Amino acid sequence: MVLVLKPDHDPKQLENLTAWLKSLGLDTHLSVGRYQTILGLVGDTSLVDIDMIKNMDIVETATRISEPYKNANRKFHPDDTIVEVAGNKIGGGHFQIIAGPCSVESEEQICTIAEQVKAAGATLLRGGAFKPRTSPYSFQGLREEGLRLLLKAKERTGLPIVTEIMEASHIPLFKDVDILQVGARNMQNFELLKELGTIDKPILLKRGLANTLQELLMSAEYIMAGGNEKVILCERGIRTFETATRNTLDLGSIPVLHEMTHLPVIVDPSHSTGFSRLVPPMSMAAAAAGADGLIIEVHNDPKHALCDGAQSLTPEQFAEVSSNVQKILPIVGKTM
Ligand code: PEP
Ligand code: MN
Repeated sequence: MVLVLKPDHDPKQLENLTAWLKSLGLDTHLSVGRYQTILGLVGDTSLVDIDMIKNMDIVETATRISEPYKNANRKFHPDDTIVEVAGNKIGGGHFQIIAGPCSVESEEQICTIAEQVKAAGATLLRGGAFKPRTSPYSFQGLREEGLRLLLKAKERTGLPIVTEIMEASHIPLFKDVDILQVGARNMQNFELLKELGTIDKPILLKRGLANTLQELLMSAEYIMAGGNEKVILCERGIRTFETATRNTLDLGSIPVLHEMTHLPVIVDPSHSTGFSRLVPPMSMAAAAAGADGLIIEVHNDPKHALCDGAQSLTPEQFAEVSSNVQKILPIVGKTM
């Protein structure tokens, strides 16, 4: 962190400031120029409240030169992290397609879709059991029964399963789940993130509706700081002034995240667009932009889906997307 001090500062104020920084474990380096005095902070500044410094009389500006996320930072871990899930690798040139319904509705539904998406190239099965719904009157998911049915579909097809966890006390229920998803609405549920940092399972962390990429990485940092380094990030669209799509898919986040972090980045073209007709082009675009995978909603009867039917592909539509995306992968140096 670099501070520019006000030209007319009182040396006593500078003495107090350096003493306070020392008490935080930081050394300082003072550079006095003709017009400006600059104080460089040396040491771990991640615990320093930059606003506290900006608020001081003596300080003109304060700028962070290192990011507050260490574990997720590409700077300290230049190689891509590869997250392995039941033999499927994500990241570092490995691409996976996760597909399945928004919600698990019945044994027949989840098992049929699982078989169809597997035949079409999906390598992992998604399906919500605990659903975060905007309205308390909407279908809330089959909960424990939903998890049981997902495990049946896993047994039937061999596909590893991805499903959302909303509450830390539910962790034991998820013991046979392969990837635990933290949904957009819980991206900053810090108590949940801390608990997920203590378990040995991959976490799919979705970007919040109104969160910056730095905030997404700070949430990943919560999980990693607890010792769980298996974090997969997911761009799922953000809320902007645009109303033509459900959310605005921020495709630029893919190359930017790849610069900022070594963690794999996948894209959800379903929640980000809200309409099934927009899912094929955005899936292709995400693959072309360097995503490490896709998570796509697929339903065998979208018109009667209990949740998110409008954005769900039929298994036939999914098969076409999957095949087209796989044609792009060699161009961007990825394999499935
Ligand atoms: C989901 O994947 O089912 C979901 C609810 O996604 P998001 O958290 O991105 O809205
Ligand atoms: Mn959904």
